[in-house]
Amino acid sequence: MTAVRINGKAIVGSIREEIAQEARQLEERTGVKPGLAVVLVGDDPASAVYVRNKAKACEEVGFYSEVHKLPAETTQEDVLALIAELNAKPTIHGILVQSPPPAHIDENAVIDAVDPAKDVDCFHPVNVGNLMIGKPSFLPCTPAGVIQILKRTGIEIAGKHAVVVGRSNIVGKPMAMLLLQENATVTVCHSRTPNMEEITKQADILVVAVGRAHLITRKHVKPGAVVVDVGMNRLESTGKLVGDVDYDDVAEVAGYLTPVPGCVGPMTITMLLANTLMAAGQLAGESRA
Ligand code: NAP
Repeated sequence: MTAVRINGKAIVGSIREEIAQEARQLEERTGVKPGLAVVLVGDDPASAVYVRNKAKACEEVGFYSEVHKLPAETTQEDVLALIAELNAKPTIHGILVQSPPPAHIDENAVIDAVDPAKDVDCFHPVNVGNLMIGKPSFLPCTPAGVIQILKRTGIEIAGKHAVVVGRSNIVGKPMAMLLLQENATVTVCHSRTPNMEEITKQADILVVAVGRAHLITRKHVKPGAVVVDVGMNRLESTGKLVGDVDYDDVAEVAGYLTPVPGCVGPMTITMLLANTLMAAGQLAGESRA
């Protein structure tokens, strides 16, 4: 068996077209152009690439965007002051502080400082709480992107056994929650799960978000399973970007498989655009889409 390679580019392209069209319509109705502010503290090269990609994506769908690059030694007080300014700025509907910040900055304080109505990353405790009780304002970008990938590939989620590997606040936990809301039966594995392959092998849908190159091989995968690789790892030997799944090996047994790069990464940015559009609509006084 050779797995179907999920065409992330096509899915991303069609969702971004929808977003661009809705943004044009919002602007016609209300005069409001969705605006995203991205804050980057420090000079981490990978973060700089992510920030550039987000600004470029905004431009492509006709959003306004601004990037605030602050030196690594910027104080927490100054970062919080900038967030307060952006919270009050009418042309900005979404605020994103690229993680990780330098060690002297308390990431939780930064998350708490963003106005929940502009928290397009869905990191603020108010939005995380709303997600837990099933009345989300925003959807967490990477997990929401995975759900879109599954749905737009025509994969049924309800009634399936979904296994999520990883339990971070950004990916694993909200991923499990969204799959549960889609009526999957969900199991979460992490670094303290013994005999993980016995569990992953039961998955109809396996989502992997660990950050270890090629952790998942064919021995972890049930024949015909859908495997979504969230991982992004830069190989030291070659500099190549690879996922957590050994693509060529797993493709021999899986039914569907997402490539890295080119699927979950661009979908994550696409969901950020969707959240920014939603925030702009809400702040323009329109009800939730
Ligand atoms: P993270 O905060 O480091 O969390 C990693 C999780 O993996 C933890 O829950 C950890 O378990 C678990 N883990 C570690 N080693 C394991 C093992 N051997 N077996 C099973 N579980 C193990 O990472 P993250 O932020 O969730 O990101 C995960 C990966 O996704 C990274 O490669 C990151 O770059 C990528 N990512 C991609 C996107 C995208 O847009 N494509 C977005 C976000 C993240 P414990 O909790 O027990 O420590």
